[in-house]
Amino acid sequence: MSERIEALCTSLSLHAVAHQYANLADEAAKKEISYLDYLEQVLSAEASLRAERSRQMLVKLATFPVVKTLEQFDFDAAPGAPKARVQELSGLAFIERRENVILLGPSGVGKTHVAIALGVRATERGYKVRFITAADLVLQLEKARSEGRFEQYLNRAILGPRLLILDEIGYLPMQKEQADMFFQVVAKRYEQGSIVLTSNLSFGDWQETFAGNAALTSAMIDRLLHHAHVIQIRGDSYRLRQARQSGLLGTKQDS
Ligand code: ADP
Ligand code: MG
Repeated sequence: MSERIEALCTSLSLHAVAHQYANLADEAAKKEISYLDYLEQVLSAEASLRAERSRQMLVKLATFPVVKTLEQFDFDAAPGAPKARVQELSGLAFIERRENVILLGPSGVGKTHVAIALGVRATERGYKVRFITAADLVLQLEKARSEGRFEQYLNRAILGPRLLILDEIGYLPMQKEQADMFFQVVAKRYEQGSIVLTSNLSFGDWQETFAGNAALTSAMIDRLLHHAHVIQIRGDSYRLRQARQSGLLGTKQDS
């Protein structure tokens, strides 16, 4: 009988059932639980396995550089990122409302960490997420354009995910055409889907990154800020702080 059950499980792709039905049946016999309770346990095992697999798939598709969580984030070390506000955002209502989250602050203060943590939370909720740095995005846009599939790229890669995370705006100064393409990304998602964006530059300095184009920069900031939560993280680089604490560097006063 077990061979027939396993064959049925295989043909129906019930992998958790195949793996667990026998143990659960032994337990059920010992505890004298009902047929219905047993059936529920077997089906729940299948459901949890599938939920876990689809979560893993969403994390994989999101292409996070590393997985970070809010539990790992030390809010005391990140002035300007109030725990209550970030936790409110981690409820993800902003994704439902198609609002943006803009994380600003100097290098190393945890912007990318918070952005990834929100993204990971979103995958747990079943949302399709895509993480990409501004530099990689520009490369992909240029490639898509040179291959004559720019529109297709916008529709698939930019509009596809429920949450688009654009990391490190400001490290790469863009050429005019690159800035134009980047603008199209923001315009395309405007009121269509949430963006979580990080930048080391305050808005006043964005123009430098976007080829000195003041009109384009202000039109873009306008769209980003229309429905947005802006979090300005202050303070020292967490990495430097850790290095200091471990005695690798001098104290703050002498550095
Ligand atoms: P940013 O994107 O602002 O340059 P990151 O998010 O990359 O900074 O943070 C740099 C490193 O320090 C990462 O490994 C991150 O996990 C860690 N980090 C930064 N801030 C915190 C914090 N407040 N609590 C815990 N880890 C932090
Ligand atoms: Mg970063």
